[in-house]
This record gives sequence, C-alpha cells and structure tokens, in this order.
Amino acid sequence: MELSDSFRHKGLRHRLVREIEKKGITDKNVLEAIGRVPRHLFMDSSFVNMAYKDQAFPIGQGQTISQPYTVAVQTSLLDVKPGDRILEIGTGSGYQAAVLHEMGASVFSIERQKRLYQKTSRLLASIGYKDIRLFLGDGYEGLPAFAPFDKIIVTAAVDEVPSTLLMQLKIDGMLVVPLGERSQTMTRIKRLSDDDFEKETFGEFAFVPMLKGIAK
Ligand code: SAH
Repeated sequence: MELSDSFRHKGLRHRLVREIEKKGITDKNVLEAIGRVPRHLFMDSSFVNMAYKDQAFPIGQGQTISQPYTVAVQTSLLDVKPGDRILEIGTGSGYQAAVLHEMGASVFSIERQKRLYQKTSRLLASIGYKDIRLFLGDGYEGLPAFAPFDKIIVTAAVDEVPSTLLMQLKIDGMLVVPLGERSQTMTRIKRLSDDDFEKETFGEFAFVPMLKGIAK
C-alpha cells in the first residue's frame, strides 16, 4: 500500500477544509484535525481524487467512510478537549477515530465486522495511529471495562439511544448519535446527573444502520 502524503494530497485536503468551513463548521480545532488526517489512506488508493471530495464513500463489507462534513458536525458537537476519553461506536475506516485522536482525545472504538476491524487495525498501526484502541464487539454493549467516558459518538443509525451507552457516560458527559429510521436527526444528549439527560437536535443526515451482534 502507498502510504505517502504528498504536496498534492495536502493541497486537496486544504481545499476540503475550506469547503467544510463554508458549509458552517467554525471549530478551528476540528478544521485543523481534518486538515491533518490523510483521508486518502483510509480508502482504496485508486480513489485518491475522490478522497478529498466532501462525500461518503464505500469501504467494503457494505459500509462507508462518513462524509467529511458529517465527521466535522459530529466532532464539533462533541466539543473535544485534549485528554477526553471518547468511545466511538462504528470504527469503519478509522477516519473519524483518527480525527478525534488528532484533537488530543484518548480514543476507544468498537466495530462489529471482523474483516473491517482487522483491516482498520492494520491501517491505523501502519499510519502511526497506534494509540487508538480498537475493539471487535457489539457497540450496543459499549465498553463497560473502560467506562465511564467523557464523550460517546455513534456513527451508525439507531431508532432509540441505547441506554447501556448512556450509563457509560460521565456526569456532564455527552453522546452524539444519528437517530431515526429512513433519515437521521443528529442528536446530542448530555448527562446532567445519574438519571437526568438533556436532548438537543441538529439537522438531518444519512447513516448506515447500527446492527446487533458481531459479523465474522
Ligand atoms: N466512523 C466510520 C464510519 C462508520 S460507518 C468512519 O469514520 O469511517 C458505520 C460503521 O458502524 C460500520 O463499519 C458498521 O459495521 C459499524 N456498526 C454497525 N453496527 C455496529 C455495532 N452494533 N457495533 C459496532 N459497530 C457497528
């Protein structure tokens, strides 16, 4: 695999960042992180030009790498601070996890598809993202052994927020999740106390569904 990051890639990435900024993303730390992650390495090398288009893309196993704008929205809503312990549900290509890592977060990410988990584990190690902790598992269960988390990000669609995940949030922590069947409403839930939660919504998006169990 070609792991280089050339001036050409950097130029294309810079344009992508400007484009996302124009669409309304103002968080400088998010824009800078997107400007640093070599998205072309997370997709097939034959799609380098496509890598810096603001589009979702197939990555195999019927899954997609999220649209950069969507990654930027979810990441902005998380209000990432260096040192935050963040759990991601749906590792996929590992791109979203890399963006969170670039912002100084301590990232834990779960993927249910074994082949994707293996491929992404190899990729992240080869690019140098060795501190991102990947797990093969069912995101509906979260990661009880590593809970609680400051933030949780779900990158697959659910009808209802899994309560298991809410219980793995710190007080004052928050969870960002696309909620809905056909199209999804981006939703942020803050944990105010043991059993008080506050919900806010942020527009419509399209995600692949969150499925139960592990796929071999
Ligand atoms: N965050 C990814 C995009 C993920 S697409 C990226 O940056 O590329 C959604 C991913 O969620 C898919 O890889 C899918 O296999 C995974 N997924 C779906 N249901 C899941 C579950 N219950 N637990 C863990 N991962 C799940």
